[in-house]
Amino acid sequence: MWGVDMGDNSKVRVIIHRGTNQIGGVCTEVATDNTRIFFDFGSPLEGEGNQDKLEIEGVTKGKVNCDGIFLTHYHGDHVGEIPFIDASIPIYMEKTARKILELQQKHMKSVGQPVWANKVNEITVGDPIQIQDLRITPIASDHSAANSVMYLIEGNDRRILLTGDYRLHGHYRDKLVETLKNLGSINLMITEGTTITRDAVNTYDEEWVEKQFKKALEEYKYVFLLTSSSALDRIAAFSRCVPNVKYMLTDRYQLDLMKVYDEEREKALKSHKVLYISDYVMKKAEKFGFGMAIRANYMFPLIVKDFFERYPDDTVLLYSMWKGYRELPSIKKLLNICNGKERTIHVSGHVTKEDLEQVLDIVKPKKLIIHHTSANTQESLFEIPKETELMKLKDRELIYL
Ligand SMILES: [Zn+2]
Repeated sequence: MWGVDMGDNSKVRVIIHRGTNQIGGVCTEVATDNTRIFFDFGSPLEGEGNQDKLEIEGVTKGKVNCDGIFLTHYHGDHVGEIPFIDASIPIYMEKTARKILELQQKHMKSVGQPVWANKVNEITVGDPIQIQDLRITPIASDHSAANSVMYLIEGNDRRILLTGDYRLHGHYRDKLVETLKNLGSINLMITEGTTITRDAVNTYDEEWVEKQFKKALEEYKYVFLLTSSSALDRIAAFSRCVPNVKYMLTDRYQLDLMKVYDEEREKALKSHKVLYISDYVMKKAEKFGFGMAIRANYMFPLIVKDFFERYPDDTVLLYSMWKGYRELPSIKKLLNICNGKERTIHVSGHVTKEDLEQVLDIVKPKKLIIHHTSANTQESLFEIPKETELMKLKDRELIYL
């Protein structure tokens, strides 16, 4: 299929298979005459856009024609449809992110979660992978999923930056900005645009989140943190805010995740003295106070209920997730226990409109595609550098670089 001579215009081909007008389920193809690579293979978010499973010749059906799939991070809207690809296709993922994903999958195995992360090839930030005429370099990013990466894709004199999900208000902002400044010339940037329609300027960052955590832990003896088990930077930050006299608690699963997270983490961002709940530790913690990272599973709500009943004035719950999750039945039930004694302390994992403008100003790509967005990118929602051409694509439209 790729043998057709397209002349000079066919140096690199790009197809956004899904994501030009929906957030979840992104999948991007970058190919030359000899090489065919994919980036992310996600599931759509509930109720949005095209919900059909991706059907791609050579990947999910027919004779295999794919040299690899690179994953930017472990969120389901980026990796959810990996189980449907041909098992012989190699998958690549940043090494710590891969370990985290494997733990998650094994934990959820009993409820039908397929385990495949154990078969994924580990890659390292800054170490390029050469696959025939494409060279793919993972770049450290900053997102609510730990160890997320961007990819620099080089080949046939073309250079593409695929951002994955990212932001400029997290712990790794300065590092990321520095990297972007040193990227050199980019022919095409494919960026996420999850929040570009939200007008409110997001002035809060992860440092603000930490301050709020500290405040709550000073004001209350028992502080529950309700967040995603995969929000490891957030949970580590919370653990660092727990005063030394108090206990930082969670369950074994969360503790295992924190251990993997900590392995190669710089000291300032590691988690601090996290213990898993046992009868012995609980007795001590009840006496001295605690911070506890919880989820809406079968166990934690019982502990939350117990403390809100016995110590209503000393207990608070911190809600640290996207507000949409409040509607999930299990979360709703858990929040009801607190009777309004909760605080929302959260910032998004996605780049704001203002920060996207800043990123574009740094990278100054020749061409720009916005995916992972429900926004109509036909409209100019933000300022782009005058040398940048915004490409308006549909899903599965083929472009040449
Ligand atoms: Zn994500």
